[in-house]
Amino acid sequence: MLYLDHSATTPILPEVKDKMMVYLTNEFGNPSGKYYELANNAKSAISNARSEISKLINSSEEEIIFTSGATESNNMALKGVADYYSAANKRHIITSKSEHSAVIDVCEFLESKGFNITYLDVDRYGRVNPRDLEKAINKDTLLVSIMWGNNELGSLNDVKELSEICKEQGVLFHTDATQVLGKTPIDWEEIPGVSFLSVSAHKMHGPKGVGALIIRKDQYGNLIPLTPLFHGGGQEKGIRSGTYSVHNIVGFGEAARIARVNLDDNIEQLYKLEEKLIAILKNKFGQQISFNSDHQNKLPGVINVRFIGLNNEVLLKKLSPIIAASTGSACSSAKPSHVLQATGLELSEVRESIRFSFSPYTNLDDIDIFYEL
Ligand code: PMP
Repeated sequence: MLYLDHSATTPILPEVKDKMMVYLTNEFGNPSGKYYELANNAKSAISNARSEISKLINSSEEEIIFTSGATESNNMALKGVADYYSAANKRHIITSKSEHSAVIDVCEFLESKGFNITYLDVDRYGRVNPRDLEKAINKDTLLVSIMWGNNELGSLNDVKELSEICKEQGVLFHTDATQVLGKTPIDWEEIPGVSFLSVSAHKMHGPKGVGALIIRKDQYGNLIPLTPLFHGGGQEKGIRSGTYSVHNIVGFGEAARIARVNLDDNIEQLYKLEEKLIAILKNKFGQQISFNSDHQNKLPGVINVRFIGLNNEVLLKKLSPIIAASTGSACSSAKPSHVLQATGLELSEVRESIRFSFSPYTNLDDIDIFYEL
């Protein structure tokens, strides 16, 4: 079976598993312990992982707050900022209609708590027009949350421009970069307008259940403050209490190291895979398909295709013994994609659409299986 649902999740690499196993077995210490070696070993393992992630995104180590994944990171940024600044009486938050449910649903929750939310329209590929953002910001705007790479279409927003608009207006900016990490370079120094950035390990061959929120240091060297979601032992500078998931964090660090070392080759391979599949699909299906995803300003290795006249669920079920793909986000798979609807597709067209997403470790020859469909 050919697995082409890497935007949903990826298998962990053998090197990642081997490193993790050490901390699931002999090195079981709690890094918050003191004096004895087991605790110190766990502490330095966390510190190495932090260093690897900081190298992958060119941030400082202090700006990395480990979480259980991007859902938590997004919740932490949005709810944490909304709560912390509620006394300032700024109650307007801007997001977009093509966000992952881990942002949209948080915004809906905040709306129920009295915040005003603007859901910006997106273009036919799911991108936000920076001019629309400029127009939407007002004196009550506290936070803008716009994703970097879309999980269903791969489209990339111009996060640098969007975040600079916010910086000029004194508005905090969060971006969900879950799909971007390890697939496109992220340079934290190059995007000073971004206040918060969410990432997750399991989209780049790391383990599930670990991620991070990267929080910008202000001019005094302090992290931009927010209210923690969890209170307790004070880990992660008190921003994220809870005993460290050492093996997961170690796995995240190793996946980040491997992604950094191979980034250019990985991107090249992802483009090759996607180009080959596009060529086969065009050749085989001609006018019976159309592409929902763009070919520019997009993450490599994600394509979204509409099989005109065919129901996507029926097709995926039929394909499932040989090819694993999806209708869109695994987190909202029960509903027709809100992302594709936001791009202007009719519901009937959404129900004909399938996402294929590759890993750099997908074998180019394996794509030949599409000739046999
Ligand atoms: N945001 C985006 C864009 C995603 O693709 C995902 C994973 N489907 C998430 C957030 C949630 O990430 P996690 O599984 O780490 O909670």
